[in-house]
Amino acid sequence: MAAPERTRVAVVGGGPAGMFLGLLLARGGIDTVVLEKHPNFLRDFRGDTVHASTLGLLDELGLGSAFAALPQRRVDSVEIQLDAGTVRLADFGRALPGLHPYVAFVPQWDFLEMLADAAEHEPHFTLVRSAEVVGLTRDGGRVAGVRWRDYAVAEPAAVEPAVAELAGVKRSAAEPEPAEHVLAADLVVACDGRWSTVREAAALVPREFGSPVDIWWFRLPRHEGDPDGGVGRLSGHEFMIMIDRGDTWQCGYLLAKGADAALRGEGLDAFRAKLARLQPWLADRLDTWPKTLDDVKLLDIRVERLEEWHRDGLLLIGDAAHPMSPVGGVGINLAIQDAVAAAQLVGQWMRHHPGPVPADVLSGVRRRRLRPTALVQAFQRAAARGVVSRALKGQVATSRTAVPLPLRVLTRFPILQSIPARFIAIGPRPEHTPSWARRLERMAPR
Ligand SMILES: Cc1cc2nc3c(=O)[nH]c(=O)nc-3n(C[C@H](O)[C@H](O)[C@H](O)COP(=O)(O)OP(=O)(O)OC[C@H]3O[C@@H](n4cnc5c(N)ncnc54)[C@H](O)[C@@H]3O)c2cc1C
Repeated sequence: MAAPERTRVAVVGGGPAGMFLGLLLARGGIDTVVLEKHPNFLRDFRGDTVHASTLGLLDELGLGSAFAALPQRRVDSVEIQLDAGTVRLADFGRALPGLHPYVAFVPQWDFLEMLADAAEHEPHFTLVRSAEVVGLTRDGGRVAGVRWRDYAVAEPAAVEPAVAELAGVKRSAAEPEPAEHVLAADLVVACDGRWSTVREAAALVPREFGSPVDIWWFRLPRHEGDPDGGVGRLSGHEFMIMIDRGDTWQCGYLLAKGADAALRGEGLDAFRAKLARLQPWLADRLDTWPKTLDDVKLLDIRVERLEEWHRDGLLLIGDAAHPMSPVGGVGINLAIQDAVAAAQLVGQWMRHHPGPVPADVLSGVRRRRLRPTALVQAFQRAAARGVVSRALKGQVATSRTAVPLPLRVLTRFPILQSIPARFIAIGPRPEHTPSWARRLERMAPR
């Protein structure tokens, strides 16, 4: 669909933050256009987690039944398999007595399509797919809109978009460049993720906190009788996570930053042997999977944060403002909480005032979300350095008898499992949707 030439809010990126924000603002009667560079939401590499606090938001929006109808797996605890046995890190059932004492694993494309479907019922909402934002327009010093290219007209050569996106790969210069359009807006909100084009166009540079680890990301077939949900496995120098996606496992094999070339040099058979040693029940498929090491993608893990999340006419939220590491699987929830806070503050103001949004309203979003973001990123950094990186160096005891002390404490006092459970499933400072965005269920009750 072609975008209008003018709107009140131009949201760049239809990921979790962008789709949530678009839906909320449109429900507030604010004309909102979401520009998403991909033709659909069929991407991997984003994480499939939908946390208890997000599930509560969906209930507030009247989307609880629509979400419940999606194919999903519900995980009520987080466990890690050591050589000495399985240790429970977080018990959601104990910590979250409400309606959703679990984290749901849902293919992210289904989740985003559900949000798009709900938003497209709103007369003030427009989603333009295959629309890549390439720059900003200005009116004096103020950001006054975006420049975007319509790839629905000239679809570029097929790339694995998620891989390109996570690796920061720009489109190839050989691909045809369709004509540029301009969308003028009172406010541009950058929700375009960790490699944000808008952030770069606004000359905003995030502070880097670094990460001692990267991930090899690949899929394996999932067979009848395999475990359900998420699986974490730590043994010797090796750490792997596996995310249950129905008929496939999305696997993440952690490696020290910079170790990619050496590991690849060991070859495919050596890697398959490591996997079989870590998870012997995978052995029945490792003769043929992964097919080649080209199917094993290196994902560059980074933790970064902007000092300022706004400019005149521009707001940045989610990974565009603070790229998250996958540690703990919490970035999606945090991005959605940012979107809800932005709707509360900025949406509320825009409902009652025409024209551009004042700086103190825009800066309120960072004031509200900085602490929870900093806290979650501090946890991710501590976990990456204190556990994952040490484990890869073989400094975490995982022998048949030794369980690391913090894990022994969690096992000895299960009540303590509520703390990581609440941190993961709810997160610090959970938000609530504005009353004007709420709806009663529009589908049959569960
Ligand atoms: C390997 C890996 C695994 C992860 N696993 C998990 C997990 O299991 N659980 C979890 O909670 N978090 C996970 N995370 C973190 C999580 O992916 C992010 O924190 C979260 O997706 C941020 O949401 P967002 O909406 O801000 O950005 P994104 O999800 O990155 O969405 C950005 C959107 O903008 C679009 N876009 C980008 N550029 C443009 C442009 N120029 N024009 C138009 N559209 C554009 C993109 O196509 C995309 O749809 C993981 C991260 C990594 C790197």
